[in-house]
Order: sequence, then C-alpha cells, then structure tokens
Amino acid sequence: IIQLYGPLNYFGTFYRAIQKNFIDMENMFDLMNITPDVRDAPDAKDLVLINGQVEFRNVTFSYQPERIVLQNVSFVVPPGKTLALVGPSGSGKSTIVRLLFRFFDVDSGSIIIDDQNIQQVTQTSLRKAIGVVPQDTVLFNNSIKFNISYGKVESNDSEIMHSAMAAEIHERIMKFPDQYNTQVGERGLKLSGGEKQRVAIARTLLKAPAIVLLDEATSALDTKTERQIQAALDQVCANRTTIIVAHRLSTVIHADEILVLKDGEIYERGRHDDLIIRNGLYAEMWSEQRKSTSDIPTNEDPVAPG
Ligand code: ATP
Repeated sequence: IIQLYGPLNYFGTFYRAIQKNFIDMENMFDLMNITPDVRDAPDAKDLVLINGQVEFRNVTFSYQPERIVLQNVSFVVPPGKTLALVGPSGSGKSTIVRLLFRFFDVDSGSIIIDDQNIQQVTQTSLRKAIGVVPQDTVLFNNSIKFNISYGKVESNDSEIMHSAMAAEIHERIMKFPDQYNTQVGERGLKLSGGEKQRVAIARTLLKAPAIVLLDEATSALDTKTERQIQAALDQVCANRTTIIVAHRLSTVIHADEILVLKDGEIYERGRHDDLIIRNGLYAEMWSEQRKSTSDIPTNEDPVAPG
C-alpha cells in the first residue's frame, strides 16, 4: 500500500493534536459565562426535542474571512444513530462539533435539530439537549458530587450515585477520603485521565441528553483503561444521536455513517465496509492504524485489508 502520509501512525498523529483543540465546552461556557458573537434571536424559542435528529445543510464556515474551514458540509444523523468524524488534523472535525453546540454561527447553510434551526432557539435550551464528553474534562475545585451533578443541578443523591455506578466510578469514589464529598480538582484530589473521563460520563448519564458529542480518548489513556471505559461510553451513546470525533477502530467500524473530512470538505462518506472497498483515503488511514496499534478488532473484524 502506498504510504500517502509517511510511516507515522496516521490516526495517532492527528488525534494527539485534537487534544488541545477540543476543549471542555460545557464547562467553558460556564466559566466564561459568555458566548462570544453568538446571541439569542429576539424571538428565540426553546428547542422542542422530538427525537433528536441532527442535520447540517450546506454548512460553510470560516473563523477568519480569508480562510474557509468548512465548505458545503451536509449530513443527517437520524435519531439514535452514530456519525463518526475522521480526517487529518485541521480538516474541520472539531469545528463541526463546535458549530452544533453553537459556539459560533455558520456563515451560510443551516444546522437543524428536529426541524428547528439552531439559530432560532435559545442557547440554553440547545445546550440542555446536548451532552458533551470531552477528551480532557476540567474538574471544578469542588466535591466529586458537585462535579457529577453539574450535568443536572437539580439531581438528588441517589440519581448521582446511580450515574456514578453506571460510569463505573462509584466504587472508586467510595474509597476517597470523604467519599462523595471529597474535594477534587487542582486544589483537591487529583484524578487520573480515565477517572476524569468517567466523571464526564457520569455527568452525561445524569443529564440524559438526546444528543451526545463525544471526543474519544486517544493515547492519553492506556488500552486497558480505554477498553473498560468503552462499556460506559456505549451506555452514554445508546439510543442517543451521537457525533463522535473518532479515534478508535471499534467506534469507526460500528458507526452508522463515517465522514472523512479533508480541508473542510467531505472527502469520502459511508460505512466502514463501503469505504474499505472504495480503497481511498479512509482505507489508507485504516490500514495505517491497524499496522501500528494493538487496538485490532478480532472477532468483529469484517474486512481484513491486504
Ligand atoms: P484536529 O484533528 O487537529 O483536532 P480538526 O479536524 O478537529 O483537527 P478543527 O479544530 O476543526 O480541525 O480546525 C479546522 C481548521 O480551523 C484548522 O485549520 C484550524 O487551525 C482552524 N481553527 C480552529 N479553531 C480556530 C479558531 N478558534 N480560530 C481560527 N482558526 C481556527
């Protein structure tokens, strides 16, 4: 196979770069308490969720006028289905996710949730409908309980505990000095990358949003931890419309649709098997990753290249 992108682990290279780009958006909005340039329309109504279908219609966007970052991007994620975004660093994956969260407004085209243009709904109702599991969760200098309940402030102790159990962090918390009241964050107990991700998962399970945006962990977690977290992540995504900036073969293989982005355009699209048969950029990326990772699907490996 021709090595279009050199001998490096292609996925690994651009996924490491994601880490600094894909920020903990939910927290950031609160910490900044502003959304620059984005305002509720004067007649904005609350988003009425029906089943959580997400649609991008001919979306074009640039951060700076002279450079288009997304060009004419269209896709539909039907209710409960999973869309995986893959592509080289800087191709626009995180930008898609940021636009859906309405961190920025599109230049042209529209983003539609259940037939409502997100520019016509209140930002509060939009963000209530969307759960974000970032790669790197920023914890508040507060109790672990607060950090989980941040997903749904009005939740009670039993709900918090149940979501922690489902995210498989409850037992760990019970070993903390003050259990659920233990202070975490920079000035408290430091949690590992995997533990922080479990907090984000527990938070999202508690929030129970119709739509989930997920930035999968990369080399930040070891393979064993990732495998363990996968079960919890599967729960978060189950029956929810999911958009994943995908790093893991297992996710990409199982996605209902994969968008391969390149220079802000959809370069290839389809399911894993279709894209492998196509033998283009995706097939190249996939075989590169297969060569250089231990994350090789075995019994569920539908197409073995080479
Ligand atoms: P990676 O895999 O490295 O995270 P990505 O595919 O997620 O990349 P984006 O983060 O969406 O790519 O970035 C797309 C392009 O937009 C890049 O060229 C990037 O430099 C640029 N960009 C991203 N954020 C901003 C910003 N806030 N201001 C200006 N340009 C930006």
